[in-house]
Amino acid sequence: MKAAVVRAFGEPLVIEERPDPEPGPGQVLVRVEASGLCHTDIHAAHGDWPVKPNPPFVPGHEGVGLVERLGDGVTHLSVGQRVAVPWLGRACGRCEHCRTGWETLCEQQINTGYGCDGGYAEKTLAWADFAQPVPDGVSALDAAPLTCAGVTTYKALKVAAVQPTQLVAISGVGGLGHLALQYAKIAGATVAAIDVTDEKLELAAELGADFVIDARKDDVAEVLKQHGGAHAAIALAVNEAAFEAAYAGLRRGGKLVMVALPAHGTVRVPIFDTVLNGTSVVGSIVGTRQDLAEVFQLHAAGRTRVVRESRPLATVNDSIEDVLRGDVRARIVFDMGAGG
Ligand code: NAD
Ligand code: ZN
Ligand code: ZN
Repeated sequence: MKAAVVRAFGEPLVIEERPDPEPGPGQVLVRVEASGLCHTDIHAAHGDWPVKPNPPFVPGHEGVGLVERLGDGVTHLSVGQRVAVPWLGRACGRCEHCRTGWETLCEQQINTGYGCDGGYAEKTLAWADFAQPVPDGVSALDAAPLTCAGVTTYKALKVAAVQPTQLVAISGVGGLGHLALQYAKIAGATVAAIDVTDEKLELAAELGADFVIDARKDDVAEVLKQHGGAHAAIALAVNEAAFEAAYAGLRRGGKLVMVALPAHGTVRVPIFDTVLNGTSVVGSIVGTRQDLAEVFQLHAAGRTRVVRESRPLATVNDSIEDVLRGDVRARIVFDMGAGG
């Protein structure tokens, strides 16, 4: 099988021929149909974060495909079934976090495309208990971005506890942001969308943003304040200044939900304002299996739209450059049937 491999941080990925992996007990082998390019894969390939993967590795945590073989003991999935293989490759199931509905915080978790090989390949392994069945009527190409961009932002909106009368700022209308915006609308909120390219701002308006803010020329905090300030801001732009602008645009009692993970990222939070305004700053990491099931359910019901470009896996290095330039219509999805 072909796989796109990170051999060293910061170097182009290499398309390699590898033997098909063998599913161990509790695992399944998945023939990948589609695999999304999340900005996290770029951070992984660059070794951007304090906890690093170990090259050589295969990135990708938006892989969707058909179960090809079942490992020992797997009884609830069947050969031919479509599943998604998310970032949460497995969690222990026994710790405090797992037992209280926060499996995404499990300290024993293994992350797909980071702690084990992921979806930038024709075949990949998944732990059967964490492989998410994709409902009928949801294509692999649509399911791929939902598997991380969707579940992460759906969860971030839950963490923000958005109400229908509230103003939500979506900072960054990329792969994550274009879905965050839709979940905020589904929650009934008024949505301000912030970005730095004309295409993304136009896309946001097309997807139902109530107003857009161009961070290249507008004072983001000022514009949000003119609207009374945001009840919640979801920070999805890979840019520290964007976090600070979103924080500054909150109203009293507002909540900044940190999701993007810029390399070595630090933001300065003013203590006085945070105390006096009763502001919350909270991190949000992907979502649980149940969150992902709900994301698929919403999509199967026609309530979300995945905006994507599909390309062959062989374009992986150019595709990464395009994402870094912001020159992509929301999400790139590698179409594994497209050859090349
Ligand atoms: P992306 O590159 O598709 O989107 C980022 C968007 O931010 C782009 O549209 C870009 O134009 C915009 N942007 C850049 N500078 C901006 C600024 N100053 N103000 C407003 N917008 C600006 O990336 P993505 O795949 O959506 O991922 C975003 C981030 O989220 C990455 O750091 C990724 O690692 C992280 N992430 C976190 C989680 C989590 O669980 N917390 C999950 C997935 C991804
Ligand atoms: Zn991701
Ligand atoms: Zn656990």
